[in-house]
Amino acid sequence: MTCRQLVRNHVFYEVTRSLCPECGQVVDAQVLIRDGSVYLRKNCSLHGWREALVSSDAQWYLKSLKYNKPGALPYDFSTSVGKGCPDDCGLCPEHQQHTCIGIIEITNRCNMACPMCFADAGNGQDMSLADVQRILDRLLETEREPEIVQISGGEPTLHGQLPDILAMVKERGIRHVTLNTNGLRLARDPEFVRQIAPYRPTIYLQFDGLKSTSYQALRGQDVAALKLQALDNSAKEGLHAILVPTLVRGVNEDEIGDIVRFGLEHPAVVGINYQPATFAGRCLDHFDPLRRITVPDVLHALETQTDGLFRVSDFLPVPCPHPTCSACTYAMIHDGQVTPIPRLVDVDSYLDYVTNRSLPDLSAELKPVLEALWSFAAVAGSEKTNAALNSVACGCGIEQASQFGLSTENFFMIQVHGFMDSHSFDLKRLTKCCVHELLPDGRAVPFCAYNLLGYRDQVRREQEVSFAGQK
Ligand code: SF4
Ligand code: SF4
Ligand code: SF4
Ligand SMILES: [Zn+2]
Repeated sequence: MTCRQLVRNHVFYEVTRSLCPECGQVVDAQVLIRDGSVYLRKNCSLHGWREALVSSDAQWYLKSLKYNKPGALPYDFSTSVGKGCPDDCGLCPEHQQHTCIGIIEITNRCNMACPMCFADAGNGQDMSLADVQRILDRLLETEREPEIVQISGGEPTLHGQLPDILAMVKERGIRHVTLNTNGLRLARDPEFVRQIAPYRPTIYLQFDGLKSTSYQALRGQDVAALKLQALDNSAKEGLHAILVPTLVRGVNEDEIGDIVRFGLEHPAVVGINYQPATFAGRCLDHFDPLRRITVPDVLHALETQTDGLFRVSDFLPVPCPHPTCSACTYAMIHDGQVTPIPRLVDVDSYLDYVTNRSLPDLSAELKPVLEALWSFAAVAGSEKTNAALNSVACGCGIEQASQFGLSTENFFMIQVHGFMDSHSFDLKRLTKCCVHELLPDGRAVPFCAYNLLGYRDQVRREQEVSFAGQK
């Protein structure tokens, strides 16, 4: 008699560390590949085994790992190695990447009460100008020439001294400032838009689609018309906007293509940053960690819903953080034609850091240009990004781009950023994070750690104590 040996139904890929979604304990986790998707499987001694989907396209996930660029060191660290990762943020000397985007949450207050809000914003305090100043000065010490500061919240437009804060960023020579906003004030108060316009913030606009139902579900109210008004008011002042849709399965995933079409038409919009929903802070009830939207889901939806205007093959992972965190592409728009840059130049060969092929046909000048574009430090619509895109266009035989008058309106960026929650948390991604919350005590805490590992709560408690002390 022969007996058949049992075989597991997955390929074991590697071991990492994750979180128990019940108690937040850091636990060992296996990365498994099953039926073309990638899963994390982990065990908490108190809450048992859990599984979570991390990528619905195993091929994309595995391929993305070769774009893992060596990290750059900050000029100074703010903590030392003590308990070990992730309890030493940060940045501690073991962190693998410097700050590409520094986020300052200048208020916990908000004029909306979204059912879905990773910051769990609502009531709270505004950050003092002295604290903002301390944060910016520390950033100059750790980065020397910081690229991007994002002013965030809560809702940052409620802070009474926002123009002063934007001025402080500019005075320090920080190249770009983005304003992370729900857009309500921009829509209702054109005078306010005029006030902030001289500081040229890029408006990073919460924009979940064009349908009222999407806003009802995610924001608890229909603010679709206000989003359009916010964009029109920004366009009037010559401000650029990046649309930031939060994507939830069964709510607005069918709007992915329409958002691109809308963005390509609107004069203020220079790009889109799709963010599959994470289950941190305040969350919608119905969430299945095995059916979440992952980065390649958005790429596949873009291909289908735009009838191939953008294809999966037009996107590459962004190599400065961990490459499974996000994907990006740029398109050139000329004579009504939308041409993704990777169809003009073999970006893939240039950004493959692991295989490290030195192909003779790779141009030494193009590599740093493409590296600057496929980075979180690139801001769509900025002079620097446009100059890089122009030089790529020229390098591809599209004669002097300026001959066509190529400018901001001629380039468009699409990014997909898959933030982590306790289900999808993977420590190896965190250690290379380049998006950091900047705190008044000088620390820079990787954004996913800030949301998931108690750092946000700790900072709020400290702020409450200091605010009570000032009363
Ligand atoms: S995430 Fe980075 S900064 Fe935080 S403890 Fe780990 S290595 Fe250090
Ligand atoms: S998601 Fe944004 S707009 Fe909504 S409550 Fe949170 S901070 Fe306010
Ligand atoms: S914020 Fe989270 S998802 Fe984004 S780069 Fe950092 S670790 Fe990755
Ligand atoms: Zn647990």
